[in-house]
Amino acid sequence: MIRLSTLRLSVACLVITLCTLKALADPPPNLIVILTDDQGYADVGFNGCKDIPTPNIDRIAQQGARCTNGYVTFAVCGPSRAGLITGRYQDRFGALRNPTVDPSVPNNGVPTSEKNIAELLKPVGYTTMAIGKWHLGTHPDLRPTVRGFDHFFGFLSGGHRYFPEELTLDREEDSKTQWDWYKTKILRNDKPIVTHKYLTDEFSDAAVDFIELAKNKPFFLYLAYNAPHAPLQAPPQYLNRFPNITNPKRKTYAAMVSAVDDGVGRVLDKLHELKLDDNTIVFFLSDNGGPDSNGSNNWPLRRHKGTPFEGGIRVPFAVRWTGKIPAGTVYDKPVSSLDIAATIAHHSGAKPAQDKPLDGVDLVPFLDGSDKTTPHPQLYWRFYNKELYVVREGDTKLIYKDGETDQLYDLGKDIGEKSNLYQDHADEITALRSLIDEWKKPMVGPLSGGISSWKFKED
Ligand code: CA
Repeated sequence: MIRLSTLRLSVACLVITLCTLKALADPPPNLIVILTDDQGYADVGFNGCKDIPTPNIDRIAQQGARCTNGYVTFAVCGPSRAGLITGRYQDRFGALRNPTVDPSVPNNGVPTSEKNIAELLKPVGYTTMAIGKWHLGTHPDLRPTVRGFDHFFGFLSGGHRYFPEELTLDREEDSKTQWDWYKTKILRNDKPIVTHKYLTDEFSDAAVDFIELAKNKPFFLYLAYNAPHAPLQAPPQYLNRFPNITNPKRKTYAAMVSAVDDGVGRVLDKLHELKLDDNTIVFFLSDNGGPDSNGSNNWPLRRHKGTPFEGGIRVPFAVRWTGKIPAGTVYDKPVSSLDIAATIAHHSGAKPAQDKPLDGVDLVPFLDGSDKTTPHPQLYWRFYNKELYVVREGDTKLIYKDGETDQLYDLGKDIGEKSNLYQDHADEITALRSLIDEWKKPMVGPLSGGISSWKFKED
């Protein structure tokens, strides 16, 4: 006679097995991360932009979720990308400064002790490609083709010129003056090649080609446009779309964003053509806020790229997973670029290293409304060179630097960080400082000297 407890156990096992089989029956989703460079919070239609139409980028938000409080982990390119690509605070592994372009410097990006999203997904059968700006290390051990990416089409440094006739150097090592590294030929995998189109269009072409190539297996496409990062360059076909913008800087910036938007449209159209909408998670975000130098607009946020204010770290952020995230979702709780790795890990079966847990969360239950809790009770930022820390808990944000006046803002009522509330909230500040003290304990110092440590100084 079968004992009741044994029967219950058997039924439980059957339920678990059926659930597992159902999960296995759903093919793992593709992942596309579309990252722009130095795009302002207000410079997408879904955040209210009027003078630069972005109908294709807006499709991601309209057909999925617009995250009004979407953050990156740092206010400039390199460290922000290191956090995004690993799903872990870059402070854990010392990627705290923009990497130097000197390929002889080890650990000048994401060290090999960390896994990036491509390295997480390769063991579970994904085909992977990185397109565009890398800026996660130029050392031969840190380049995309040895860091989990089957394919690479782009450049290794932190910015690039856009017109093909200006790409005259074969390698970073050929740089003789400052900013020469913006003139290197585009790499296909590790080989410099001659390109013929405006760089943004080259990257869009490569993205569409990759989706066609990889359509029969799960794939991960990291599409990291360097637009609209300086230098401000655009051809007439995009400039001519903005006859009413008279500020020349804003006009070129608008043209550059518009070229990206065309590319996003081509990527989305390709997914639709191949009937991959339901099985592809698409993230769109910028790597940091708009700088004060490229014609970008972060309104209503305070300040710009490089600063601990919202204009430095809060970015345009949208996610689409057709059939899973309801169309038209507007999500106002803080989310992070850290969540991209955690989301795809959860839905692909990828296994992060047990001793290096991800700092993000699977966003799907939050964006589909099934989980009403808060994805991140706190989010943290560390500006290592300035010894400055930031924590956001709920709507409260503390900017803290030893020896300076604390800055406490209520972002729910004061998105522009105009009213410093520090005088009436000493206890709250003490509690938030304690959270920072706890958070920073396992964090490490920089692994390399940064972009200015090479023979050329950064401006
Ligand atoms: Ca950037």
